[in-house]
Amino acid sequence: MPRRTQFTLYKPKSILNKHKRADHWFWSRYTAYPYLGCQHGCEFCYCREQKFSPYDNPDDFAYTIKVKENAPQLLRKALTRAKTDVIFTGDYQPAEKKFQLSRKMLKICLERNFPVFILERSPLILRDLDLLTEIESRARAVVSFSIISTPDSPHYQRIRQMERLAPPPEKRFAAMEKFASAGLMTGTSMMPLLPELCDDDANLESIIKWTADHGGSFVLASGLTLSDQQRSYFFQILAQRFPDLLPAYKKHYPAGKSYGAVDNNWRRTALKIRELCQKHGIKDRMPRPIIPGDKFATNKRIVEILADKLYAMELENVHKSQLWAYRKAAWAVEDLQQDIKLIYRTMGLKGIQSVENISPSLGKVIEKLLANLLNEQESNPTALNTPSGVLKFK
Ligand code: SF4
Repeated sequence: MPRRTQFTLYKPKSILNKHKRADHWFWSRYTAYPYLGCQHGCEFCYCREQKFSPYDNPDDFAYTIKVKENAPQLLRKALTRAKTDVIFTGDYQPAEKKFQLSRKMLKICLERNFPVFILERSPLILRDLDLLTEIESRARAVVSFSIISTPDSPHYQRIRQMERLAPPPEKRFAAMEKFASAGLMTGTSMMPLLPELCDDDANLESIIKWTADHGGSFVLASGLTLSDQQRSYFFQILAQRFPDLLPAYKKHYPAGKSYGAVDNNWRRTALKIRELCQKHGIKDRMPRPIIPGDKFATNKRIVEILADKLYAMELENVHKSQLWAYRKAAWAVEDLQQDIKLIYRTMGLKGIQSVENISPSLGKVIEKLLANLLNEQESNPTALNTPSGVLKFK
């Protein structure tokens, strides 16, 4: 007998989690989710880890859904005091059909002109295409679909077993095509790439090709993490359903270490993804969505270019000290309370180099980037708001 889902309604005290600065993957500064637990119940989901999960028994994660019934009201209040930036929100598990909290929260983002980023495994999100299109026209809206295999993938059936309660990837790709046709930036998050099942070249190429063919402009990827109770839960699933995979996973994820597979194999996988993205004409980084008229647009573009370079350097296995110089410079520009263009115009290179945590050599790099951006802007005044990633690091 399939287990029945229980919904528990409650009123949390807050809904909007604020981060010090936007992350370098999804470019979101805030997160706000309407539900705890997920009916899609993907076996690999990190939300079963103790630090995220309100459940003592990881089995409850997919069947006991906690509904934040006052989420829209809390969001409206929180956004009156928040600086405009990207909110990572939305959750289109089946509960959304009944409670419609994601939709109500999107209405508030629209009312307050906040850009949104949504990462989704369900085509139910198409129901809110109208709202997302409106948000895109005023602020920005980006939808990324979580997809780790296609019907062409060598291990499709086994991978589907790992996310068997979620709608199939073909439906997610069909939804992606509709968002792309409506003019929204969309793409795929290959998260998590399960070792032994998803990280072979054939699967990677298949997802990237399907993404490009369905109007997606980027893929993002990350490996699987397994910690505490989620590690035991996942190993139990493997033992029951895929015992042949258990020895390899025990090797990739020794007790007490969460990121074994990522550490050992990630660079090779990420480089392959980069090569395949180039072949199929899309990016392996998500372009940063910038709100039209944002007075810090130049700063944000500079941060995006520095973050792209930082990622490329990580793939090239550059020394950690160089990575840190770029990371700290990106954070320093993100934290600036002034338009970096004005600093440069009034004080030149010295002005940039005087910003805390920007080293003299990174100051010169930023000076060059600014010169490129300003040239670009002269020929195309909307260049800073163009989410095309055309302003490359030179
Ligand atoms: S859809 Fe996402 S949040 Fe839900 S179980 Fe799957 S991985 Fe977790």
